[in-house]
Amino acid sequence: MTKTTLFKQDGLPTFRPPSGVIEVRQGGARSELATFQNGANGEMVDPFGRHITYLRVSVTDRCDFRCVYCMAEDMEFLPKRDLLTLEELDRLSTTFIAKGVKKLRLTGGEPLVRKNIMYLIRSLSRHLETGALEELTLTTNGSQLKRFAKDLADAGVRRLNVSVDTLDADKFRRITRWGELKKVMEGIDAAQEAGLHVKLNAVALKGFNDSEIPSMIEWAHGRGMDMTLIETMPMGEIDEDRTDQYLPLSKVRADLSRQWTLNDIPFKTGGPARYVEVAETGGRLGFITPMTHNFCESCNRVRVTCTGTLFMCLGQEDAVDLREPLRSSEGNDLLAEEIDRAISRKPKGHDFVIDRKTRNPSVSRHMSVTGG
Ligand code: SAM
Ligand code: SF4
Repeated sequence: MTKTTLFKQDGLPTFRPPSGVIEVRQGGARSELATFQNGANGEMVDPFGRHITYLRVSVTDRCDFRCVYCMAEDMEFLPKRDLLTLEELDRLSTTFIAKGVKKLRLTGGEPLVRKNIMYLIRSLSRHLETGALEELTLTTNGSQLKRFAKDLADAGVRRLNVSVDTLDADKFRRITRWGELKKVMEGIDAAQEAGLHVKLNAVALKGFNDSEIPSMIEWAHGRGMDMTLIETMPMGEIDEDRTDQYLPLSKVRADLSRQWTLNDIPFKTGGPARYVEVAETGGRLGFITPMTHNFCESCNRVRVTCTGTLFMCLGQEDAVDLREPLRSSEGNDLLAEEIDRAISRKPKGHDFVIDRKTRNPSVSRHMSVTGG
């Protein structure tokens, strides 16, 4: 038998956890056991034996930047009515946690521009308290971080990825079109002051930041931050030619090796990056190389958009609608069944291609739809 318990969070509206979730209060601390009827509480294992333990949730497709490799300048965003409510996002995430997700990353668009985002984050943090979830984290452009850093730390967030592609204010404005580097820097300061571990993410872009990469690494490591470099992926129509932007990280790594000693280390954060330690700086440097080194064999992730569409692979079009099963029933059994069906279709890997012959993006949606 499943049971639903209503509870009220301090200062927050009454929140209804999904039915099928049994909430047990012990000594004032909240612990929550998630069980579902029909045996749908099984963990998620795809046809290639990969355990799905990592969920990325795009909480909005909107953003206060327009990074040139990510969005066109005049993006058309989804009508607000199509978005899942914060309660629905919570219910969806909770169902995934009940099915074995241990790491949850909120992303976007820019997650911190979603209205009342702290409501969702505080609510999800109950799964950290019970130990059901090991990590709740965000990828952000940092523009709103000064305002949110302390609240995020108080809600149990421990680590953040902040995306910064250059430390030059003019170049930053050019690459983000609308961004202000000073604000992002203040956000990083505030995050570190609040005790959050910040990792810097930078997309490697030919002719834009290639010569700056070593100084960015030195800067990040000097501030006690890990840094990860990302290869640009062919997602969505943008105003520029991606072949002009694409910089293989194999080349970047070879260039860095001439100046520094890069030691491979087994360090993992649950994501796709492979890490080295830079002997000279003592810091960690990650490489996310979807183009030059396919990391699909160890993929443990799925992604949900802000409209409840589940993408089993960032680099494929196949997707499953979870909004309908979410809305059509108060319980989560239908939702759990649909998730199981989707996981049984998770493809082996992506087919990203960037070359002069291939003019169309490998997937038509922008990165801001599924989140990075
Ligand atoms: N707005 C947040 C941010 O910028 O961190 C979160 C969403 S953003 C889509 C997540 C990450 O994806 C960022 O680090 C961004 O640089 C990266 N990204 C966006 N479009 C990309 C693309 N086409 N190829 C590779 N990385 C991309
Ligand atoms: Fe916005 Fe992030 Fe995309 Fe830049 S990369 S436009 S900050 S969603």
